[in-house]
Parts: sequence; structure tokens; C-alpha cells
Amino acid sequence: MRFIFLGPPGVGKGTQVKRLSRQYAVPSVATGDMFRSAIAKGTSTGLEVKSYLDSGLLVPDEVTIKMVKERLYEDDAKRGYILDGFPRTIKQAEALAEIVRQTHQRIDRVFYFNLEEGEIERRILGRRSCPACQQTYHLIYYPPKREGVCDCGATLIQRKDDQPETLNARLSVYQEETTPLIDYYERQNLLERIDASGTMDDVYERVRCGGIQALSS
Ligand code: AMP
Repeated sequence: MRFIFLGPPGVGKGTQVKRLSRQYAVPSVATGDMFRSAIAKGTSTGLEVKSYLDSGLLVPDEVTIKMVKERLYEDDAKRGYILDGFPRTIKQAEALAEIVRQTHQRIDRVFYFNLEEGEIERRILGRRSCPACQQTYHLIYYPPKREGVCDCGATLIQRKDDQPETLNARLSVYQEETTPLIDYYERQNLLERIDASGTMDDVYERVRCGGIQALSS
């Protein structure tokens, strides 16, 4: 199974992808998490991309594509993967199509998460993230068991790019760079629109009914 989760920041893709990845035992490939982990470890990629993440801009395509390509050629991705936050530009989508072609595979479906802007803002501004295990919570919708502390024991933070100053930049980058992918995948008959409102369980059921169950077997 090879799935793409597409949609604006804060729409809840990551939460669903982590759950599906556990349930179907395929790796999730979340470019945002990979970049944050590289920054935390101080790798050369981390140093190169930090300013883009801090300002809510997209990391250049060459850097992102190289990182994803290496990841998708790892052994555990041979059976499949769920992409979260990639592709985000047409150039990235074309690079992915090439990787998939070279390995004689195909993308099974693209789940496009849709949510009204006010709710996106409420979800992002209330989001708290674990810098150690990348688990996310929401102050109201999904609070941790202990206030301010991840279930893994690390102290939760509000990501710098989840703060109001950077949020607007991320939303307009999404509009400009990423929304063309909706048409791109619709034309290939791969797009499945998912209403991302409601609880995490509601959305999970919609994704399952949207075909993930049938396609994963
Ligand atoms: P996310 O966690 O998916 O919201 O991503 C956080 C940040 O990582 C984005 O605002 C970008 O700076 C960077 N990023 C993640 N995925 C990509 C991508 N596919 N292309 C370029 N930049 C990305």
C-alpha cells in the first residue's frame, strides 16, 4: 500500500497517518518530522533547513526530494508507506512519480483532508508537540494525561511554526504551492476527499470507508 495524505497544515493528517501506520504496519514518512529530527540532531541537513521551518517556508525541492528518495529506498518501505506532508509541490509530485515508476510500484490513493480555515487555526494554535517522540496533542481536543507532559515523559512544546506569526505564512504557502496538487491527483483519478471535521475517530472512520481498508488487503 502506498498512500499520500494531502491537506493544509494542522488539519490532522499526522495524527491519522501515525495511527494507520501502526494499524497496517507500514512506515509513515512525514517530511516535517524528518526535518525536525535532523534539526534536533544538528545534522548538515538540519542546519540547512532550520531557517525555512522557522519562517514557515518550504524547504527547497532538491533537498526535500533527495531526503525522501533515500527514505523510500530503505528496506522497510519496500512493502509500502504512507506519505505525510510530501509531496507539497508539483515538482515533488513528479519526482515521486519517477521513484514509483523506477521501482515498478504505484500510488494507490491520495487522501485530501479538507477543513474550514477557522477550525484549522484553532487546531494549530492549540497544538502541543513532543520534541522527543513527535507525538502531538491538543490543549482541548486531545490533552495529554499530565498537563504539559508527553506520555513518553518529555516536556511538550508549542512548535515555533505553530505560533500565530508563522501560521499565516504557512497557510499562504500551502495555497500557492500545494493546492495545485489537488487537480494534479484528481486528473489521475487518485484523489479521495476527506471531511476532516469532528473527532479523530470520526475522521479515521472516513479514511477507512474512503478505501484504505480495501486497498490495504
Ligand atoms: P509539517 O510538519 O508537515 O507541517 O512541516 C513543517 C515544515 O517542514 C514546513 O513548514 C516546511 O518548512 C518543511 N516541510 C515539510 N515537508 C515539506 C515538503 N514536502 N517540502 C518542503 N518543505 C517541507
